[in-house]
Amino acid sequence: KPILLLMNGTLRLDDHPALVSACSSGAGVIPMFILDDAGAGDWKLGGARRWWLKDSLIRLATSLEARGSRLILRAGDTADIVESLLGEVSAVYMTRAYSPMGRRAQEQIHQLCSAHDTDCRRFTGNLLLEPEDVRTKTGGIYEVFSPFWRRAVELIDGSPPLGAPDQVPAPDNWPESQDITELKLDPRPAHWVKPIAATWVPGEDAAQDRLAKFLTEAARDYKAMRDVPGVEATSRLSPYLAHGEISPRRIWAEAQLHMMTEAQDRKGADWFLRELGWREFSKHLLFHNPTLPVRPLKAQFEDFPWREGVDDMVVAWQKGRTGFPIVDAGMRQLWQTGWMHNRVRMIVASFLVKDMLWHWRTGEDWFWDTLVDADLANNAASWQWVAGCGADAAPYFRIFNPITQGEKFDPDGDYIRTYVPELADMPNDYIHKPFEAPEGVLKMAGVSLGATYPEPVLDRKACRERALAALQSIKKQA
Ligand code: FAD
Repeated sequence: KPILLLMNGTLRLDDHPALVSACSSGAGVIPMFILDDAGAGDWKLGGARRWWLKDSLIRLATSLEARGSRLILRAGDTADIVESLLGEVSAVYMTRAYSPMGRRAQEQIHQLCSAHDTDCRRFTGNLLLEPEDVRTKTGGIYEVFSPFWRRAVELIDGSPPLGAPDQVPAPDNWPESQDITELKLDPRPAHWVKPIAATWVPGEDAAQDRLAKFLTEAARDYKAMRDVPGVEATSRLSPYLAHGEISPRRIWAEAQLHMMTEAQDRKGADWFLRELGWREFSKHLLFHNPTLPVRPLKAQFEDFPWREGVDDMVVAWQKGRTGFPIVDAGMRQLWQTGWMHNRVRMIVASFLVKDMLWHWRTGEDWFWDTLVDADLANNAASWQWVAGCGADAAPYFRIFNPITQGEKFDPDGDYIRTYVPELADMPNDYIHKPFEAPEGVLKMAGVSLGATYPEPVLDRKACRERALAALQSIKKQA
């Protein structure tokens, strides 16, 4: 009997331990992807990731076909689908999941397999280290990133990644597959994803190319340039990692190799691996705190007077019409490309949760729907970091100033000019604060505040006081 190989979360052939193990077992292999929207509960895949997933599945199916196999697609309840096949397979293989819903589904599969006397194996593959493996000296869980990463680096064994198998043995009989259109992956409105589709090439081949390009062209300057949003100085591997199209072990191994051969790039590549460490840290946090996406890690923030719901102000933030150029540029980059530079993610997030005093979950939800790299752990941990309620968070009273941040990290306004073209002719002195520009300067630049570009939606000074008063209110209660 063949082995059922669930490809969820691991849409690749390279460095895929479950696949390699199945292929070497001597049995046929049934690679399958199940879309279980109901099982995902509140965290059904958002629009941008649905677009990516569709493209990625098509590419994965083509790669499998080139190796004598197929990709079987199903939509529905994971446990029901697996149970319906248990009589026809000898084993179920999958890559370990860390999200609450992924873990629940895998646990159900495990129980079903036990009941049917079928072998069930969970393989590692999407983290450098498992959440159980990184412990403090007293056996506790790390809540602060730097000591976590120091310890993690000692533990990473650097074992080489596994290559993709040349052939994937086919079973004698294939189970029925649904057509990809039945998975309903096309997001709405359809025109929204057009520029996103023009920006990205999903799939594992593109992921490998991007890693190679990053290491040869940008790794050297990564540490110095990674905060500059107007330059492509980071790897942009996040959507590939989110879909499991590249393994962190492959990234680790290639970066190590690069550091050995290009010694002058060591600092940059090392810092890049440290960022990959934040991904590990977030996943470990989510594993140990399954409520991370919905509840603050710092309990006193349960009573914080966040504002909730969606009103005109939130829509102005979502659509990049706040009147603060760096915030608007970031939100428009997100809408147009499905991705936003990390520095700008921090600025727009701080603007929502501190200047606007809106609940971080409103931002988390918007990012979930619009990011091609939306990742439950990274997104939740990062929002909590900015909101000041996370484990190793920025202190709440540290409020990002969108003007000085813009002037520091986009001094020539390149990023603003790309995404807020109506300010393209503003001189650098005022491009981050058009509301302070003299009438003559605005006129020369063809900018009319309130007509061609919005007036600021809020008074930052008053908002800062309001935010600090809100913090005091929970401190008093504590
Ligand atoms: P690089 O700088 O090239 O870093 C390499 C890899 O390291 C990234 O691909 C990513 O996997 C990981 N990484 C980098 N920074 C972080 C970080 N701060 N936390 C966790 N992992 C990190 N990242 C997501 O992958 N998905 C999200 O949903 C997400 N939501 C975010 C929300 C907010 C409010 C903020 C402030 C950050 C969020 N991030 C998220 C983290 C970070 O912004 C992105 O991972 C990064 O911008 C991706 O670009 P890159 O691949 O070029 O990163």
